[in-house]
Amino acid sequence: MNLAIIHTRAQLGVAAPPVRAEVHLAGGLPSFNIVGLPDSAVREARDRVRAAITNSGFDQPQRRITVSLAPADLPKDGGRFDLPIALGILVASKQLKVRDLEGYEFLGELSLAGELRGVVGSLPAILQAREAGRCLVLPAENAREAGLVGNADCRLGTDLAGVAAALAGRGELARPEPFVGAVIDDLPDLADVRGQARARRALEIAAAGGHNLLMLGPPGTGKTLLASRLPGILPQMAEDEALETAAIGSISAQTLDPLRWRQRPFRSPHHTASGVALVGGGTRPRPGEISLAHHGVLFLDELPEFDRRVLEVLREPMESGRIVISRAALQAEFPARFQLIAAMNPCPCGYAGDESGRCGCSPDQIARYRSRVSGPLLDRIDLHVEVPRQKIGKLPTGEPSAEVRQRVDAARALQQTRGALNARLDEAAVRAHCRLDPRGETLLEQACERLRLSARAYQRILKVARTIADLDAAENIANAHLAEAIGYRQLDRGMAGG
Ligand SMILES: [Zn+2]
Repeated sequence: MNLAIIHTRAQLGVAAPPVRAEVHLAGGLPSFNIVGLPDSAVREARDRVRAAITNSGFDQPQRRITVSLAPADLPKDGGRFDLPIALGILVASKQLKVRDLEGYEFLGELSLAGELRGVVGSLPAILQAREAGRCLVLPAENAREAGLVGNADCRLGTDLAGVAAALAGRGELARPEPFVGAVIDDLPDLADVRGQARARRALEIAAAGGHNLLMLGPPGTGKTLLASRLPGILPQMAEDEALETAAIGSISAQTLDPLRWRQRPFRSPHHTASGVALVGGGTRPRPGEISLAHHGVLFLDELPEFDRRVLEVLREPMESGRIVISRAALQAEFPARFQLIAAMNPCPCGYAGDESGRCGCSPDQIARYRSRVSGPLLDRIDLHVEVPRQKIGKLPTGEPSAEVRQRVDAARALQQTRGALNARLDEAAVRAHCRLDPRGETLLEQACERLRLSARAYQRILKVARTIADLDAAENIANAHLAEAIGYRQLDRGMAGG
């Protein structure tokens, strides 16, 4: 039979759906057609495959060659199908005999000389080939990704001739070196932040419970310095978390550093970033900053300067931890479980409330500036804290991140017994785990009335109070915990008033 079927994978969001490359040879005038690819990609793939076959010491069959990439409605681009197509032609033309072809998957772009080139987004394919129980043959340039995935059955090829020889039983393909090295801890340290005790405390609570945090203060008071220290006080990612984050980096062609792959990402897009850059999109959907920050920190400095429509789009992933991008008939989904740290000036000039008195903004201007951040977005930020200008001189040295992280770890261990980080408790779990005594209930009700808080903010306060109690290793939320949590909502009123 002059038909060969080769298994490979496309890329859609962080998924790598299976694709069958079916190669059929028939009599008639020699031709080479590929169906199931966009036109321009077909032309390029045809040229590369044809040259690679000839330059690897094989014959380009003088037959009618039809290649079908199925299913037809999946997006297929890039050169990742070159290797499967070339192998299919060799098998269909009987130049290559492979035992158990069914047990393999292939991925890789070919150069005209027949060398294999790395593909973008190999990690999802590696993970899913492992699930399918097949051996994945991929370019040696993707060895790092392959080495990260424990017990994945991968082989590395450098060129078409070598892959074909190994499949025919002559020689073997290299296995990826499993990555077992130590993980470097070189994140910026909290010891660099002097003073700002209240903001440091808020950052620790945010880390302990996975809460979003808004910092308000004039320029140059250390908001960025503080935000960038958050990954260093969070626990390192577990392997499955790290793989998810690396998979997103893999499809966005980010360079993977195995020594730092357990470190939580810290992304700080500029406020001029487009909606697509921030949340993802494009004709061929790509992940945005919110997905690159998956399991890590998204820092939005100068929050009111961001396009308001873009900020509103953040609300959905802040709840669900994922973003769905629709393009025509296609839907791509990207994970986006980020922790939001936002910073803003108190007024357009930045110096409202500053002792220097250099702020000349009118109350109207200040209200308008603050109202650029909508109430519903603000509602989803659990902690608001001021980062004021400090007197230079007698500032205490900061406690190092390693010490803070110990307390964060202990508080997170308590939450693990309840099944979720406090920031992600649903209403039923809040009722179960965030109970107040009658005095606490009165305290919270009065605060809500005074600050005109929404029902959502009410829930947020309870979750933050739970985290503060956890940092205290307390079983019940005491009034002191609750009062501190309420203290981190003091901006609601001023903000909503605009
Ligand atoms: Zn001002």
